[in-house]
Amino acid sequence: MFESLTTRFSGAFSALRGRGKISSADIETTCIEIRQALLESDVALSVVETFISQIREKSLAALPTLQSGTNQAQAVFEIVNTALIEILGGSARRVRFAKNPPTVIMLAGLQGAGKTTLAGKLAKFYADQGNTPLLVASDLQRPNAVTQLQVVGESIGVPVFAPEPGNGVGDPVKVAKSGIEFAKSKLYNMVIVDTAGRLGIDEELMNQAVSIRDAINPDEILFVVDAMIGQDAVRTSEAFLNGVGFDGVVLTKLDGDARGGAALSIASITKRPIMFASTGEKLADFDIFYPERMASRILGMGDVATLAEQAKKAFDGDTSAKLEAKFASGEDFTLEDFLEQLQAMSKMGSMSKLLGMLPGAGQMKKQVENFDESEIVRTKAIVQSMTPLERQDPKVLNGSRRARIALGAGRKVSDVNNLVDRFAAAQKMMKQVRNGGMPAGMGGMGMPAMPKPAAKSQPGKKKSKSGNPAKRALEQGQ
Ligand code: GDP
Repeated sequence: MFESLTTRFSGAFSALRGRGKISSADIETTCIEIRQALLESDVALSVVETFISQIREKSLAALPTLQSGTNQAQAVFEIVNTALIEILGGSARRVRFAKNPPTVIMLAGLQGAGKTTLAGKLAKFYADQGNTPLLVASDLQRPNAVTQLQVVGESIGVPVFAPEPGNGVGDPVKVAKSGIEFAKSKLYNMVIVDTAGRLGIDEELMNQAVSIRDAINPDEILFVVDAMIGQDAVRTSEAFLNGVGFDGVVLTKLDGDARGGAALSIASITKRPIMFASTGEKLADFDIFYPERMASRILGMGDVATLAEQAKKAFDGDTSAKLEAKFASGEDFTLEDFLEQLQAMSKMGSMSKLLGMLPGAGQMKKQVENFDESEIVRTKAIVQSMTPLERQDPKVLNGSRRARIALGAGRKVSDVNNLVDRFAAAQKMMKQVRNGGMPAGMGGMGMPAMPKPAAKSQPGKKKSKSGNPAKRALEQGQ
Protein backbone atom coordinates (compact mmCIF):
# COMPACT_ATOMS: atom_id res chain seq x y z
CA MET A 1 0.00 0.00 0.00
CA PHE A 2 2.48 2.65 1.05
CA GLU A 3 5.26 1.61 -1.32
CA SER A 4 5.69 4.94 -3.07
CA LEU A 5 5.60 6.78 0.24
CA THR A 6 8.17 4.39 1.69
CA THR A 7 10.43 4.85 -1.32
CA ARG A 8 10.22 8.64 -1.04
CA PHE A 9 10.86 8.62 2.71
CA SER A 10 13.82 6.28 2.28
CA GLY A 11 15.24 8.53 -0.43
CA ALA A 12 14.87 11.64 1.72
CA PHE A 13 16.56 9.99 4.70
CA SER A 14 19.42 8.46 2.81
CA ALA A 15 20.19 11.89 1.34
CA LEU A 16 20.11 13.34 4.84
CA ARG A 17 22.35 10.60 6.22
CA GLY A 18 24.82 11.28 3.45
CA ARG A 19 25.47 14.79 4.75
CA GLY A 20 28.33 15.53 7.11
CA LYS A 21 26.64 18.13 9.24
CA ILE A 22 22.99 18.88 8.66
CA SER A 23 22.11 22.51 7.98
CA SER A 24 18.74 24.19 8.20
CA ALA A 25 18.74 24.25 4.39
CA ASP A 26 19.02 20.43 4.44
CA ILE A 27 16.02 20.26 6.75
CA GLU A 28 14.10 22.46 4.34
CA THR A 29 14.96 20.17 1.43
CA THR A 30 13.82 17.14 3.44
CA CYS A 31 10.58 18.91 4.37
CA ILE A 32 9.87 19.78 0.74
CA GLU A 33 10.54 16.18 -0.30
CA ILE A 34 8.26 14.75 2.43
CA ARG A 35 5.55 17.31 1.73
CA GLN A 36 5.47 16.37 -1.93
CA ALA A 37 5.46 12.66 -1.14
CA LEU A 38 2.50 13.06 1.22
CA LEU A 39 0.51 15.16 -1.22
CA GLU A 40 1.14 12.66 -3.99
CA SER A 41 -0.16 9.96 -1.67
CA ASP A 42 -3.46 11.82 -1.38
CA VAL A 43 -2.96 12.94 2.20
CA ALA A 44 -5.25 15.88 2.98
CA LEU A 45 -3.54 19.24 2.60
CA SER A 46 -4.33 20.46 6.13
CA VAL A 47 -2.79 17.31 7.60
CA VAL A 48 0.32 17.69 5.45
CA GLU A 49 0.83 21.31 6.48
CA THR A 50 0.57 20.57 10.20
CA PHE A 51 2.84 17.56 9.83
CA ILE A 52 5.54 19.46 7.95
CA SER A 53 5.58 22.46 10.23
CA GLN A 54 5.93 20.16 13.22
CA ILE A 55 8.87 18.35 11.65
CA ARG A 56 10.57 21.54 10.58
CA GLU A 57 10.21 23.14 14.01
CA LYS A 58 11.32 20.12 16.03
CA SER A 59 14.21 19.26 13.71
CA LEU A 60 15.58 22.79 13.72
CA ALA A 61 15.40 22.79 17.51
CA ALA A 62 17.20 19.45 17.75
CA LEU A 63 20.07 20.13 15.30
CA PRO A 64 22.26 22.41 17.45
CA THR A 65 22.09 20.01 20.39
CA LEU A 66 23.73 17.20 18.41
CA GLN A 67 27.35 16.91 17.34
CA SER A 68 27.62 14.45 14.51
CA GLY A 69 25.70 14.40 11.25
CA THR A 70 24.72 10.78 11.87
CA ASN A 71 23.13 11.64 15.20
CA GLN A 72 21.38 14.59 13.62
CA ALA A 73 19.96 12.44 10.81
CA GLN A 74 18.81 9.88 13.36
CA ALA A 75 17.12 12.61 15.42
CA VAL A 76 15.23 13.89 12.37
CA PHE A 77 14.20 10.33 11.58
CA GLU A 78 12.85 9.90 15.12
CA ILE A 79 10.97 13.19 14.87
CA VAL A 80 9.31 12.09 11.63
CA ASN A 81 8.50 8.69 13.13
CA THR A 82 6.87 10.26 16.18
CA ALA A 83 4.90 12.71 14.03
CA LEU A 84 3.72 9.87 11.79
CA ILE A 85 2.56 7.82 14.77
CA GLU A 86 0.69 10.87 15.98
CA ILE A 87 -1.18 11.51 12.75
CA LEU A 88 -2.05 7.84 12.61
CA GLY A 89 -3.83 8.30 15.93
CA GLY A 90 -1.22 7.78 18.65
CA SER A 91 -1.62 4.48 20.43
CA ALA A 92 -3.98 1.67 19.47
CA ARG A 93 -7.39 1.72 21.15
CA ARG A 94 -9.41 -1.40 21.82
CA VAL A 95 -13.17 -1.87 21.77
CA ARG A 96 -14.73 -0.83 25.09
CA PHE A 97 -16.76 -3.64 26.50
CA ALA A 98 -20.13 -2.75 28.04
CA LYS A 99 -20.46 -3.16 31.80
CA ASN A 100 -23.68 -5.03 31.16
CA PRO A 101 -23.36 -7.34 28.19
CA PRO A 102 -23.96 -7.53 25.35
CA THR A 103 -21.42 -5.06 23.97
CA VAL A 104 -23.09 -3.61 20.90
CA ILE A 105 -20.98 -2.70 17.87
CA MET A 106 -22.66 -0.95 14.96
CA LEU A 107 -20.95 -0.77 11.57
CA ALA A 108 -21.54 2.22 9.31
CA GLY A 109 -20.10 3.23 5.97
CA LEU A 110 -20.66 3.38 2.24
CA GLN A 111 -21.79 0.40 0.22
CA GLY A 112 -18.81 -1.68 -0.86
CA ALA A 113 -16.62 -0.32 1.94
CA GLY A 114 -16.33 -3.84 3.32
CA LYS A 115 -18.79 -3.76 6.26
CA THR A 116 -20.25 -7.23 5.80
CA THR A 117 -16.81 -8.75 5.31
CA LEU A 118 -15.62 -6.86 8.36
CA ALA A 119 -18.58 -8.05 10.45
CA GLY A 120 -17.35 -11.61 9.90
CA LYS A 121 -13.75 -10.70 10.65
CA LEU A 122 -14.68 -8.92 13.87
CA ALA A 123 -16.91 -11.79 14.97
CA LYS A 124 -14.11 -14.29 14.39
CA PHE A 125 -11.56 -12.07 16.10
CA TYR A 126 -13.68 -11.78 19.25
CA ALA A 127 -14.94 -15.36 19.19
CA ASP A 128 -11.31 -16.54 19.07
CA GLN A 129 -10.76 -14.60 22.29
CA GLY A 130 -13.55 -16.47 24.03
CA ASN A 131 -16.43 -14.08 23.40
CA THR A 132 -19.84 -15.14 22.15
CA PRO A 133 -20.76 -12.73 19.36
CA LEU A 134 -24.04 -12.58 17.46
CA LEU A 135 -24.15 -11.09 13.97
CA VAL A 136 -27.23 -9.06 13.08
CA ALA A 137 -28.20 -8.63 9.43
CA SER A 138 -29.57 -5.09 9.22
CA ASP A 139 -28.31 -4.40 5.73
CA LEU A 140 -31.58 -5.11 3.99
CA GLN A 141 -30.68 -3.01 0.98
CA ARG A 142 -27.65 -4.34 -0.81
CA PRO A 143 -28.44 -7.39 -2.93
CA ASN A 144 -27.38 -10.54 -1.12
CA ALA A 145 -26.00 -8.76 1.95
CA VAL A 146 -28.08 -10.98 4.26
CA THR A 147 -27.04 -14.21 2.54
CA GLN A 148 -23.42 -13.04 2.51
CA LEU A 149 -23.51 -12.49 6.27
CA GLN A 150 -25.15 -15.88 6.80
CA VAL A 151 -22.45 -17.60 4.75
CA VAL A 152 -19.68 -15.81 6.67
CA GLY A 153 -21.35 -16.60 10.01
CA GLU A 154 -21.63 -20.25 9.12
CA SER A 155 -18.00 -20.47 8.06
CA ILE A 156 -16.80 -19.17 11.43
CA GLY A 157 -19.46 -20.83 13.57
CA VAL A 158 -21.03 -17.55 14.70
CA PRO A 159 -24.85 -17.34 14.67
CA VAL A 160 -26.52 -14.75 12.45
CA PHE A 161 -29.79 -13.07 13.41
CA ALA A 162 -31.52 -12.58 10.07
CA PRO A 163 -35.31 -12.56 10.31
CA GLU A 164 -35.73 -10.67 7.02
CA PRO A 165 -34.60 -11.73 3.56
CA GLY A 166 -33.24 -8.29 2.63
CA ASN A 167 -32.84 -7.21 -1.00
CA GLY A 168 -35.12 -4.28 -0.18
CA VAL A 169 -37.52 -6.22 2.04
CA GLY A 170 -37.87 -5.63 5.80
CA ASP A 171 -37.32 -2.88 8.37
CA PRO A 172 -33.63 -2.61 9.33
CA VAL A 173 -34.34 -0.68 12.55
CA LYS A 174 -36.73 -3.36 13.76
CA VAL A 175 -34.23 -6.09 12.89
CA ALA A 176 -31.43 -4.33 14.78
CA LYS A 177 -33.62 -3.80 17.82
CA SER A 178 -34.94 -7.33 17.96
CA GLY A 179 -31.39 -8.60 17.35
CA ILE A 180 -30.27 -6.95 20.59
CA GLU A 181 -33.28 -8.40 22.45
CA PHE A 182 -32.47 -11.82 21.06
CA ALA A 183 -28.81 -11.51 22.11
CA LYS A 184 -29.85 -10.52 25.64
CA SER A 185 -32.27 -13.42 25.95
CA LYS A 186 -29.67 -15.92 24.70
CA LEU A 187 -26.83 -14.35 26.71
CA TYR A 188 -24.53 -13.47 23.83
CA ASN A 189 -21.90 -11.09 25.18
CA MET A 190 -21.43 -9.16 21.94
CA VAL A 191 -23.60 -8.04 19.04
CA ILE A 192 -22.22 -6.85 15.71
CA VAL A 193 -24.80 -5.02 13.62
CA ASP A 194 -24.21 -4.81 9.86
CA THR A 195 -26.03 -1.84 8.32
CA ALA A 196 -26.79 -0.72 4.78
CA GLY A 197 -24.63 1.72 2.88
CA ARG A 198 -25.24 3.59 -0.34
CA LEU A 199 -22.99 4.31 -3.25
CA GLY A 200 -22.69 7.92 -2.12
CA ILE A 201 -23.74 10.01 0.84
CA ASP A 202 -27.47 10.68 0.91
CA GLU A 203 -29.94 11.80 3.49
CA GLU A 204 -31.97 8.63 3.52
CA LEU A 205 -28.86 6.63 4.32
CA MET A 206 -27.92 8.89 7.20
CA ASN A 207 -31.44 8.89 8.57
CA GLN A 208 -31.56 5.13 8.56
CA ALA A 209 -28.20 4.88 10.32
CA VAL A 210 -29.34 7.44 12.89
CA SER A 211 -32.59 5.51 13.51
CA ILE A 212 -30.66 2.27 14.02
CA ARG A 213 -28.21 4.05 16.32
CA ASP A 214 -31.03 5.50 18.43
CA ALA A 215 -32.85 2.18 18.59
CA ILE A 216 -29.90 0.10 19.76
CA ASN A 217 -27.70 2.62 21.58
CA PRO A 218 -24.39 1.02 20.50
CA ASP A 219 -21.29 0.95 22.69
CA GLU A 220 -19.14 1.50 19.62
CA ILE A 221 -20.04 2.84 16.21
CA LEU A 222 -17.30 1.87 13.80
CA PHE A 223 -17.01 3.77 10.57
CA VAL A 224 -15.77 1.43 7.86
CA VAL A 225 -13.90 3.10 5.02
CA ASP A 226 -12.20 1.85 1.91
CA ALA A 227 -8.61 3.14 2.03
CA MET A 228 -8.46 3.06 -1.75
CA ILE A 229 -10.87 5.94 -2.29
CA GLY A 230 -8.17 8.55 -1.67
CA GLN A 231 -9.23 12.12 -0.95
CA ASP A 232 -12.89 11.05 -0.97
CA ALA A 233 -12.28 9.15 2.24
CA VAL A 234 -11.90 12.39 4.15
CA ARG A 235 -15.10 13.87 2.73
CA THR A 236 -17.05 10.68 3.43
CA SER A 237 -15.74 10.35 6.96
CA GLU A 238 -16.68 13.95 7.73
CA ALA A 239 -20.19 13.34 6.41
CA PHE A 240 -20.59 10.26 8.58
CA LEU A 241 -19.13 12.02 11.58
CA ASN A 242 -21.63 14.85 11.26
CA GLY A 243 -24.49 12.59 10.21
CA VAL A 244 -24.44 9.62 12.55
CA GLY A 245 -21.21 10.09 14.51
CA PHE A 246 -18.72 7.33 15.21
CA ASP A 247 -16.24 6.22 17.85
CA GLY A 248 -13.60 4.57 15.76
CA VAL A 249 -12.51 3.93 12.19
CA VAL A 250 -11.80 0.70 10.36
CA LEU A 251 -9.65 0.99 7.25
CA THR A 252 -10.33 -1.67 4.67
CA LYS A 253 -8.48 -2.69 1.50
CA LEU A 254 -5.12 -1.64 2.89
CA ASP A 255 -3.76 -4.39 0.65
CA GLY A 256 -4.64 -2.36 -2.42
CA ASP A 257 -2.13 -0.40 -4.43
CA ALA A 258 -3.66 2.99 -3.69
CA ARG A 259 -1.50 5.68 -2.23
CA GLY A 260 -2.73 5.44 1.34
CA GLY A 261 -3.66 9.05 1.95
CA ALA A 262 -6.88 8.01 3.72
CA ALA A 263 -4.94 6.20 6.41
CA LEU A 264 -2.83 9.23 7.06
CA SER A 265 -5.62 11.80 7.02
CA ILE A 266 -8.60 10.24 8.74
CA ALA A 267 -7.45 10.01 12.34
CA SER A 268 -6.29 13.63 12.52
CA ILE A 269 -9.27 15.02 10.64
CA THR A 270 -11.97 13.12 12.51
CA LYS A 271 -10.11 12.94 15.84
CA ARG A 272 -11.26 9.34 16.06
CA PRO A 273 -8.82 6.46 16.34
CA ILE A 274 -8.28 3.94 13.56
CA MET A 275 -9.04 0.73 15.44
CA PHE A 276 -8.76 -2.07 12.91
CA ALA A 277 -7.21 -2.66 9.54
CA SER A 278 -8.48 -5.01 6.88
CA THR A 279 -5.90 -6.19 4.39
CA GLY A 280 -7.67 -8.64 2.11
CA GLU A 281 -10.83 -10.54 1.34
CA LYS A 282 -10.06 -13.52 3.55
CA LEU A 283 -11.16 -13.67 7.18
CA ALA A 284 -7.58 -13.86 8.37
CA ASP A 285 -6.63 -10.63 6.57
CA PHE A 286 -7.43 -8.46 9.55
CA ASP A 287 -5.74 -7.02 12.60
CA ILE A 288 -5.86 -4.36 15.24
CA PHE A 289 -4.47 -1.12 13.80
CA TYR A 290 -1.21 -0.19 15.49
CA PRO A 291 -0.14 3.37 14.55
CA GLU A 292 3.46 2.73 15.57
CA ARG A 293 3.73 -0.40 13.42
CA MET A 294 2.19 1.38 10.45
CA ALA A 295 4.60 4.29 10.84
CA SER A 296 7.44 1.80 10.98
CA ARG A 297 6.28 0.25 7.71
CA ILE A 298 5.88 3.59 6.01
CA LEU A 299 9.43 4.51 7.01
CA GLY A 300 10.76 1.24 5.58
CA MET A 301 11.54 -0.35 8.94
CA GLY A 302 9.12 -3.22 8.38
CA ASP A 303 6.64 -4.62 10.85
CA VAL A 304 8.48 -7.31 12.70
CA ALA A 305 6.09 -7.20 15.65
CA THR A 306 3.13 -8.30 13.52
CA LEU A 307 5.26 -10.88 11.75
CA ALA A 308 6.31 -12.40 15.07
CA GLU A 309 2.72 -12.44 16.31
CA GLN A 310 1.51 -14.21 13.21
CA ALA A 311 4.29 -16.76 13.46
CA LYS A 312 3.39 -17.41 17.09
CA LYS A 313 -0.25 -17.92 16.15
CA ALA A 314 0.57 -20.24 13.25
CA PHE A 315 3.19 -22.35 14.99
CA ASP A 316 1.08 -23.74 17.78
CA GLY A 317 2.68 -24.51 21.11
CA ASP A 318 2.88 -28.25 20.51
CA THR A 319 4.72 -27.97 17.22
CA SER A 320 7.27 -25.49 18.53
CA ALA A 321 7.85 -27.41 21.77
CA LYS A 322 8.34 -30.66 19.86
CA LEU A 323 10.83 -29.06 17.51
CA GLU A 324 12.71 -27.42 20.35
CA ALA A 325 12.93 -30.70 22.24
CA LYS A 326 14.23 -32.49 19.14
CA PHE A 327 16.72 -29.78 18.54
CA ALA A 328 17.98 -29.90 22.12
CA SER A 329 18.24 -33.70 22.19
CA GLY A 330 20.39 -33.72 19.07
CA GLU A 331 17.81 -35.52 16.92
CA ASP A 332 17.73 -34.83 13.23
CA PHE A 333 15.36 -32.32 11.74
CA THR A 334 13.30 -34.52 9.42
CA LEU A 335 11.13 -33.94 6.38
CA GLU A 336 8.18 -34.64 8.68
CA ASP A 337 9.15 -31.59 10.74
CA PHE A 338 9.69 -29.66 7.56
CA LEU A 339 6.17 -30.53 6.41
CA GLU A 340 4.73 -29.32 9.72
CA GLN A 341 6.60 -26.04 9.25
CA LEU A 342 5.30 -25.63 5.72
CA GLN A 343 1.78 -26.23 6.99
CA ALA A 344 2.23 -23.63 9.70
CA MET A 345 3.63 -21.19 7.18
CA SER A 346 0.60 -21.65 4.96
CA LYS A 347 -1.55 -20.78 7.97
CA MET A 348 0.32 -17.49 8.32
CA GLY A 349 -1.16 -16.26 5.06
CA SER A 350 0.27 -14.94 1.86
CA MET A 351 4.05 -15.12 1.62
CA SER A 352 4.36 -11.82 -0.21
CA LYS A 353 2.41 -10.13 2.59
CA LEU A 354 4.72 -11.71 5.15
CA LEU A 355 7.84 -10.78 3.24
CA GLY A 356 6.50 -7.26 2.94
CA MET A 357 6.69 -6.93 6.71
CA LEU A 358 10.45 -7.38 6.76
CA PRO A 359 12.59 -4.28 7.23
CA GLY A 360 13.83 -3.03 3.88
CA ALA A 361 11.05 -4.85 2.03
CA GLY A 362 10.61 -1.70 -0.06
CA GLN A 363 13.96 -2.33 -1.71
CA MET A 364 13.06 -5.92 -2.55
CA LYS A 365 9.68 -4.94 -3.90
CA LYS A 366 10.10 -6.90 -7.13
CA GLN A 367 11.13 -10.11 -5.39
CA VAL A 368 8.32 -9.77 -2.85
CA GLU A 369 5.74 -9.23 -5.58
CA ASN A 370 7.10 -12.05 -7.71
CA PHE A 371 7.08 -14.60 -4.93
CA ASP A 372 5.27 -17.60 -6.30
CA GLU A 373 2.76 -18.55 -3.57
CA SER A 374 2.01 -21.89 -5.18
CA GLU A 375 5.62 -22.96 -4.69
CA ILE A 376 4.78 -23.78 -1.05
CA VAL A 377 1.80 -25.88 -2.16
CA ARG A 378 4.01 -27.72 -4.68
CA THR A 379 6.71 -28.35 -2.10
CA LYS A 380 4.10 -29.64 0.34
CA ALA A 381 2.75 -31.98 -2.33
CA ILE A 382 6.21 -33.48 -2.81
CA VAL A 383 6.71 -34.14 0.91
CA GLN A 384 3.18 -35.49 1.22
CA SER A 385 3.89 -37.99 -1.56
CA MET A 386 6.66 -39.54 0.51
CA THR A 387 6.19 -42.48 2.84
CA PRO A 388 6.78 -41.95 6.58
CA LEU A 389 10.09 -43.80 6.25
CA GLU A 390 11.25 -41.50 3.46
CA ARG A 391 10.29 -38.43 5.47
CA GLN A 392 12.21 -39.72 8.45
CA ASP A 393 15.26 -40.80 6.53
CA PRO A 394 15.69 -39.12 3.14
CA LYS A 395 18.84 -41.19 2.57
CA VAL A 396 16.61 -44.06 1.40
CA LEU A 397 15.42 -41.93 -1.50
CA ASN A 398 16.88 -43.79 -4.45
CA GLY A 399 16.04 -43.12 -8.07
CA SER A 400 12.89 -45.21 -8.24
CA ARG A 401 11.50 -43.76 -5.03
CA ARG A 402 12.13 -40.26 -6.34
CA ALA A 403 10.41 -41.08 -9.63
CA ARG A 404 7.38 -42.44 -7.71
CA ILE A 405 7.22 -39.31 -5.52
CA ALA A 406 7.47 -37.02 -8.54
CA LEU A 407 4.62 -38.89 -10.19
CA GLY A 408 2.50 -38.73 -7.03
CA ALA A 409 3.06 -34.99 -6.62
CA GLY A 410 2.65 -34.20 -10.29
CA ARG A 411 6.17 -32.73 -10.40
CA LYS A 412 9.40 -33.47 -12.19
CA VAL A 413 12.07 -35.67 -10.64
CA SER A 414 14.37 -32.64 -10.71
CA ASP A 415 11.91 -30.84 -8.42
CA VAL A 416 12.11 -33.72 -5.94
CA ASN A 417 15.90 -33.69 -6.20
CA ASN A 418 15.97 -29.98 -5.67
CA LEU A 419 13.88 -30.22 -2.53
CA VAL A 420 15.93 -33.08 -1.10
CA ASP A 421 19.16 -31.16 -1.75
CA ARG A 422 17.87 -28.03 -0.10
CA PHE A 423 16.50 -30.01 2.78
CA ALA A 424 19.88 -31.69 3.29
CA ALA A 425 21.51 -28.25 3.36
CA ALA A 426 18.99 -27.07 5.96
CA GLN A 427 19.56 -30.18 8.04
CA LYS A 428 23.30 -29.56 7.94
CA MET A 429 22.73 -25.95 8.95
CA MET A 430 20.62 -27.04 11.93
CA LYS A 431 23.42 -29.33 13.04
CA GLN A 432 25.97 -26.53 12.75
CA VAL A 433 23.78 -24.21 14.81
CA ARG A 434 23.29 -26.88 17.43
CA ASN A 435 27.01 -27.42 17.65
CA GLY A 436 27.55 -23.72 18.17
CA GLY A 437 28.90 -23.02 14.68
CA MET A 438 27.84 -20.18 12.48
CA PRO A 439 25.97 -21.56 9.51
CA ALA A 440 27.11 -20.25 6.17
CA GLY A 441 24.45 -18.46 4.13
CA MET A 442 21.48 -18.77 6.43
CA GLY A 443 19.28 -17.37 3.68
CA GLY A 444 18.01 -14.55 5.85
CA MET A 445 14.53 -15.97 6.26
CA GLY A 446 14.97 -17.68 9.59
CA MET A 447 13.07 -20.58 8.05
CA PRO A 448 15.01 -23.66 7.22
CA ALA A 449 14.85 -24.87 3.65
CA MET A 450 12.46 -22.22 2.45
CA PRO A 451 11.08 -23.11 -0.92
CA LYS A 452 12.76 -20.83 -3.42
CA PRO A 453 10.76 -18.43 -5.57
CA ALA A 454 9.83 -20.22 -8.76
CA ALA A 455 11.94 -17.92 -10.88
CA LYS A 456 15.06 -19.41 -9.35
CA SER A 457 14.11 -23.07 -9.57
CA GLN A 458 13.83 -23.27 -13.29
CA PRO A 459 12.70 -26.65 -14.43
CA GLY A 460 14.72 -28.09 -17.23
CA LYS A 461 17.97 -26.59 -16.00
CA LYS A 462 20.24 -29.58 -16.21
CA LYS A 463 22.67 -29.12 -13.41
CA SER A 464 23.57 -32.27 -11.59
CA LYS A 465 25.15 -31.77 -8.22
CA SER A 466 24.43 -35.23 -6.98
CA GLY A 467 26.89 -37.92 -6.13
CA ASN A 468 24.02 -40.37 -6.28
CA PRO A 469 24.26 -42.18 -9.60
CA ALA A 470 20.57 -43.16 -9.64
CA LYS A 471 19.62 -39.60 -9.14
CA ARG A 472 22.06 -38.32 -11.71
CA ALA A 473 20.80 -40.81 -14.25
CA LEU A 474 17.25 -39.62 -13.67
CA GLU A 475 18.24 -36.01 -13.91
CA GLN A 476 19.95 -36.63 -17.18
CA GLY A 477 17.13 -38.75 -18.45
CA GLN A 478 14.64 -35.88 -18.36
P1 GDP B 1 -20.30 -3.74 2.21
O1 GDP B 1 -21.19 -3.31 1.08
O2 GDP B 1 -19.78 -2.57 2.95
O3 GDP B 1 -20.95 -4.75 3.11
O4 GDP B 1 -19.01 -4.42 1.54
P2 GDP B 1 -18.57 -5.94 1.43
O5 GDP B 1 -18.21 -6.50 2.75
O6 GDP B 1 -19.54 -6.71 0.63
O7 GDP B 1 -17.20 -5.77 0.59
C1 GDP B 1 -17.20 -5.26 -0.72
C2 GDP B 1 -16.10 -5.96 -1.53
O8 GDP B 1 -14.82 -5.64 -1.01
C3 GDP B 1 -16.19 -7.48 -1.46
O9 GDP B 1 -15.87 -7.99 -2.72
C4 GDP B 1 -15.14 -7.87 -0.44
O10 GDP B 1 -14.64 -9.17 -0.69
C5 GDP B 1 -14.09 -6.81 -0.69
N1 GDP B 1 -13.28 -6.52 0.51
C6 GDP B 1 -13.68 -6.28 1.78
N2 GDP B 1 -12.63 -6.00 2.58
C7 GDP B 1 -11.52 -6.06 1.79
C8 GDP B 1 -10.10 -5.86 2.03
O11 GDP B 1 -9.63 -5.54 3.12
N3 GDP B 1 -9.28 -6.02 0.95
C9 GDP B 1 -9.75 -6.34 -0.28
N4 GDP B 1 -8.87 -6.47 -1.27
N5 GDP B 1 -11.05 -6.52 -0.53
C10 GDP B 1 -11.93 -6.39 0.48
